[in-house]
Amino acid sequence: MTTFLTETTTGGPALPQELRLVTEVPGPRSRELQARKSAAVAQGVGTTLPVYIAAAGGGVLVDVDGNSLIDLGSGIAVTTVGNSAPRVVTAVQEQAAAFTHTCFMVTPYESYVAVAEALNRLTPGDHQKRSALFNSGAEAVENAVKIARSYTKKSAVVVFDHAYHGRTNLTMAMTAKNMPYKSGFGPFASDVYRAPLSYPYRDSGIDGAAAAARAIDVIEKQVGAENLAAVVIEPIQGEGGFIVPADGFLAGLVDWCRVNNVVFVADEVQTGFARTGAMFACDHEGVVPDLIVSAKGIAGGLPLSAVTGRAEIMDAAHGGGLGGTYGGNPLACAAALAVIETIESDGLVERAAAIGDLMVDRLKTLAARDDRIGDIRGRGAMIAVELVKAGTNEPDPDLTKRVAAAAHARGVIVLTCGTYGNVLRFLPPLAISDALLAQACDILDDVFEETR
Ligand SMILES: *Cc1c(COP(=O)(O)O)cnc(C)c1O
Repeated sequence: MTTFLTETTTGGPALPQELRLVTEVPGPRSRELQARKSAAVAQGVGTTLPVYIAAAGGGVLVDVDGNSLIDLGSGIAVTTVGNSAPRVVTAVQEQAAAFTHTCFMVTPYESYVAVAEALNRLTPGDHQKRSALFNSGAEAVENAVKIARSYTKKSAVVVFDHAYHGRTNLTMAMTAKNMPYKSGFGPFASDVYRAPLSYPYRDSGIDGAAAAARAIDVIEKQVGAENLAAVVIEPIQGEGGFIVPADGFLAGLVDWCRVNNVVFVADEVQTGFARTGAMFACDHEGVVPDLIVSAKGIAGGLPLSAVTGRAEIMDAAHGGGLGGTYGGNPLACAAALAVIETIESDGLVERAAAIGDLMVDRLKTLAARDDRIGDIRGRGAMIAVELVKAGTNEPDPDLTKRVAAAAHARGVIVLTCGTYGNVLRFLPPLAISDALLAQACDILDDVFEETR
């Protein structure tokens, strides 16, 4: 019974699905608001492109100056089903009118349980599972570590080069990159160790099994399985540069974890919920994590995150040991159920794969005539290009900034990432039309030409 879902169909986004520039970008109204922002908001809170948004849907963001921009960012992989997706809007409106909060730990409600059931069904593996809900990705990662420690009675945590796991104290320790995420914010949580990743573009031919063996060697020598609670890894790294590890790398790590009573945690905060052309990125390789962390795409923009995993591990934490005032808020749960319904009914897993094919095709054509594109990688609608000095593999963060800025000026929202700041990443909402996607690719072609 899904009383919180309505029979609403995807009526199609109400906003005209077009690129429309009526001022420079950002326009005068946005610049005014940005001046207010500078005076009122802490400067540590940055903005990639200071256009202030008035409405969004399908594949466009409409700003306060009336510009309609093509969205290749989805608010960092969050609005996977589209902004203000019709089922999400209806579900949240109905829930807001019924009740907005009780605290699940005080007086519970059905939608939380239904989200847990859906997560247990959708995540990799057909073993018995349990879920717990939180607010942010970082909070869920922290809880996965708490649960793994509680289950194994061990404390060490292994993470990887280029990893991003969040901005709270423990997750800052787990995140690799100093600037901007960590610098000056220490001391960090202890007992966190970093192992080498599989990074095919920069690994000079090491295959997945060899890369796993290299990581395991570091883990055994520097940490010791007898001290290690969890190995936490993004199956495709997000902020680190959309790095897809070589085949067999994840499987090698999982096998080692199983034998050594170490909990294997997949941080699928960015890769989960259809983004990569599978419900979860682990599905591409048949990898079954012990715990899986999801957030971002889970609830169409409402704050929700989750840890899902083997029942015996999830149940290891004592009663009252997990939770939080807002975790699994009813509005966010209603949104998540609508997101899941939308992904399943509208075939969005397949749509993500099709978007990936379209973009990779176009980017390959571009790369064939531009040797500043060192690598094209990703899966589904999580695609990136790594930019280098022509004919070398030396990172070119400067070019990356210029390409992104030029795309922004032309009304295409792209994001950058990567340890070296030289990765241009594409995370379009799956509700974007092929026409808009093709137009965005045309503009990228121009922009690469202009920045020569
Ligand atoms: C974004 C992200 C996080 C942190 O999520 P927040 O909701 O920003 O706390 C953690 N892990 C990965 C892989 C992410 O992409």
